[in-house]
Amino acid sequence: MSVKENLIAIKKSLPAQVTLVAVSKTKPNELILQAYDAGQRDFGENYVQELADKYEQLPKDIQWHFIGHLQSNKVKYIVPFVHLIHGVDSFKLLKVINKQAEKINSVVNCLLQLYIAREETKFGFDFEECETVLKSEEFKSLKNICVKGFMAMASNTDDEEEVRREFSSVKQFQEKMLQHDSRLSVLSYGMSGDYQLAIECGSNMIRIGSSIFGERKYTDQ
Ligand SMILES: *Cc1c(COP(=O)(O)O)cnc(C)c1O
Repeated sequence: MSVKENLIAIKKSLPAQVTLVAVSKTKPNELILQAYDAGQRDFGENYVQELADKYEQLPKDIQWHFIGHLQSNKVKYIVPFVHLIHGVDSFKLLKVINKQAEKINSVVNCLLQLYIAREETKFGFDFEECETVLKSEEFKSLKNICVKGFMAMASNTDDEEEVRREFSSVKQFQEKMLQHDSRLSVLSYGMSGDYQLAIECGSNMIRIGSSIFGERKYTDQ
């Protein structure tokens, strides 16, 4: 199947409220343009340099999502054009993004990454930390970021019930936090292997790479 056929098949299966982010990391512009020509406009990348290069080279109406682990010293390279930063995993990083956005008089959309997996290697806030941040006075003083919701990655396991529990815990947390801040409407979870389950558990933004573009030659991190 071609990129276009993959994309159309996935899009047909999605409820209307779900945004599809096509994860194009490691993939050449030629394949991204095939998806673009099929109408796709939201693309996700994990590496700052790769994202900056692709932004330069590809059509300017693409909405670029940064979905990788972002280092503070690289924030400035993507702030001028990024549509949504998914993986904000510390208050410090949020403050750096705010500062860089302030410099260029802009407001950057972010998602806070929640740690829900059993693995030790995944980044993110736990629910308590995240709630503390969202309710803090300092958070309210950050005028150049807009936190739109949450991003999470489930454990890499065949145990469907475990994954369901993890995804549902994010949805539950969001419902609680929405009472404090009505902007927190985005739930970014679900990848090629688990997006149907993620949508059942409340996701409204899925990040799909290999099911659109084929397997990657090298994996991230
Ligand atoms: C690579 C990546 C994806 C896409 O993964 P696939 O399994 O290829 O769909 C989604 N989210 C994040 C954070 C990623 O790093």
